[in-house]
Amino acid sequence: MSDRIDSFVEFIRGLYGGSESIPLHAPCFVGNEKRYLIECVDSTFVSSVGPFVDRFERMMEEITGAKHAVAATNGTSALHMALILAGVRPGDEVITQALSFVATANAIAYQQAHPVFVDVDLRTGGMSSSALEAFLQERCEIADGHCQNKRTGRRIAAVVPMHVFGHPVDIEAIVSVCEHWRIPVVEDAAESLGSHARGRHTGTFGMLGAFSFNGNKTVTCGGGGCIVTNDPALAKRAKHLTTTAKVPHRWEFQHDEVGYNYRLPNINAALACAQLEMLEAFVANKRTTASMYRDYCSRAGVRFLDEPADCRSNFWLCAILAADRDERNQFLERGNAKGVMMRPAWKLLNSLPAFSGCETDALENSRWLEDRLVNVPSSVRVELLKDLPRGLEA
Ligand SMILES: *Cc1c(COP(=O)(O)O)cnc(C)c1O
Repeated sequence: MSDRIDSFVEFIRGLYGGSESIPLHAPCFVGNEKRYLIECVDSTFVSSVGPFVDRFERMMEEITGAKHAVAATNGTSALHMALILAGVRPGDEVITQALSFVATANAIAYQQAHPVFVDVDLRTGGMSSSALEAFLQERCEIADGHCQNKRTGRRIAAVVPMHVFGHPVDIEAIVSVCEHWRIPVVEDAAESLGSHARGRHTGTFGMLGAFSFNGNKTVTCGGGGCIVTNDPALAKRAKHLTTTAKVPHRWEFQHDEVGYNYRLPNINAALACAQLEMLEAFVANKRTTASMYRDYCSRAGVRFLDEPADCRSNFWLCAILAADRDERNQFLERGNAKGVMMRPAWKLLNSLPAFSGCETDALENSRWLEDRLVNVPSSVRVELLKDLPRGLEA
């Protein structure tokens, strides 16, 4: 068993060259980053308005195919804003998956709503449409035109599926269940920029989607986020609420409600624009790395978490599945001891102190994955980018 782990660690060392320590996901700046940053500093417009913010939003519309994109300070604030826009109010319940990064549940808590955690699908790692449907059928009813939890009497105000490690969740089935139950879908697409399900970009199936540009994501601008929607009224309101609810005027400070300072600084947007130019090349590069993991794993008899059928994943983070928790721990210990960063899945959100009282279903698959999943180094391999046509401006 330990031989198997050691050879896997050696394989990863080969993949990422001989460096001392191999991170899980390092940012990669080989495009127009410096140029745009200098341009931004020279313009003095480094703060929350400026041409790069607009350019970033138009690029996000083009990339995702969403009609509207609105910049935000980070993925968490984008998700919080999306929940507000979907109509989540204090005292509501929001159904999400137990296997996710803490930000998903935090954004729900910011709105003083109660997260409810349902199980995930073993094929995608994301929310299971059948677990969602079973939860709604067994524990909810339609009353006064909306879905409510029969036991708590609280309204189910939104469903938030997350595209785990960039692998598209079973989004069409989830949206159709939610249509039947009249619940808006807000996609946590923080990890899935560049990932498509049946040719359509993740984040654009529900009412709203939220993306992150944090330092560890596929592309980064230090910190940044984006809300996407096809609804022009929601987009307009997203822009208004994220920019302190200021009524446009040349000098008056008129704010017509409590707004948020969720404005992405122009200097971050400058970095984001340069990174978005690289997105296609990065995703292609990461997919090549993923196929090398896939081939190695199938030869070595290690389970690899592959992209779901009919999907094109960005393979933000590659993951393997150990035989059991014991073997998982050995992967983590031996890998990290040899400078090859490996990381377990997040602890299930219902096991964190802030969310321990939240309602859940049996979470069988979530627990199964939590016991076995190991993320492995997945950065862009820069040396393979060099000869690629990057479409960069002169
Ligand atoms: C990264 C991430 C976020 C939050 O993004 P930030 O930009 O770090 O605020 C939200 N949800 C998921 C699933 C993430 O992975």
